[in-house]
Amino acid sequence: MYKKINFKKYSSINIGEEYEVKVINEIQEYKGYYIIGRGNNILISNNPPPLAILSDNFDYIFKKNGKLIVGAATSSGKLLTYCKKHNIANFEFLAKLPGNIGGLTKMNAGLKEWEIFNQINSIKTSNGIIKKENIIYSYRKAEIDTIIFEVIFNIENGFDIKKQKSFVEMRDNQPNMPSAGSCFKNPKEYSAGYLIEQVGLKGYSIGDMSFSKIHANFLVNTNNGTFNEAIKLINLAKEKVKKQFNIELELEIITL
Ligand SMILES: Cc1cc2nc3c(=O)[nH]c(=O)nc-3n(C[C@H](O)[C@H](O)[C@H](O)COP(=O)(O)OP(=O)(O)OC[C@H]3O[C@@H](n4cnc5c(N)ncnc54)[C@H](O)[C@@H]3O)c2cc1C
Repeated sequence: MYKKINFKKYSSINIGEEYEVKVINEIQEYKGYYIIGRGNNILISNNPPPLAILSDNFDYIFKKNGKLIVGAATSSGKLLTYCKKHNIANFEFLAKLPGNIGGLTKMNAGLKEWEIFNQINSIKTSNGIIKKENIIYSYRKAEIDTIIFEVIFNIENGFDIKKQKSFVEMRDNQPNMPSAGSCFKNPKEYSAGYLIEQVGLKGYSIGDMSFSKIHANFLVNTNNGTFNEAIKLINLAKEKVKKQFNIELELEIITL
């Protein structure tokens, strides 16, 4: 089964055309497809690879044998609400962190020292369960080359509402405009936002795409921004930062 998705509406950065996307209902290997989640971290070109998405069959949460079993199509907000209701700790960082559990796991999404891999026990793929110990992961990255259908989390008690509030406050400096979150990963030495500001690109626009005036590492769509405008800005920032600081900025956003 396929469905048409208009990426201008679907993606958080409001870029893209309408494409046919394969809807996955069962656990199997799907060679030749690029899996997407909620489109909060992708920048889609006019010529993307064949795309696939998980159906609602993978939208579920339950407890089993002291573990939390979560379908990869479950949203971060739903998991956060579940943890609050069942007094489960360490998922507070999901507050206002948009995405599905599959996307969050592949990106090892998080904020500061809190990241989703802290809580992961294992993942389910078409090759069976893979334990966390056998997955290589680091800041905003997990080396998983296959579709994640389910994520199994360790459980600790004690949801902390104060912590949740402080995570929401940490987002006060994020622009309230269409974006795909942080554009570049933070290099070791400086934050990417600082570097973009230092090379004079904070608030700089090409067409309708711009490095936000509020937070320079947010590439925002001010109206009808395009993939090409976004790429031009990305390349400009990379060039200028390389020249001035000799640092290679690495994209956090995924271009398709
Ligand atoms: C306003 C805003 C704020 C954000 N803040 C943060 C933040 O604080 N911290 C942070 O880490 N990120 C942040 N992000 C980025 C984004 O929320 C995360 O990267 C999130 O994990 C993306 O999830 P998604 O479902 O939208 O994935 P998508 O954007 O659809 O896909 C992202 C990647 O995950 C892969 N993927 C998706 N589903 C699966 C699956 N089932 N199996 C295997 N691979 C899969 C895709 O192939 C792609 O490589 C922010 C984004 C926005 C728009």
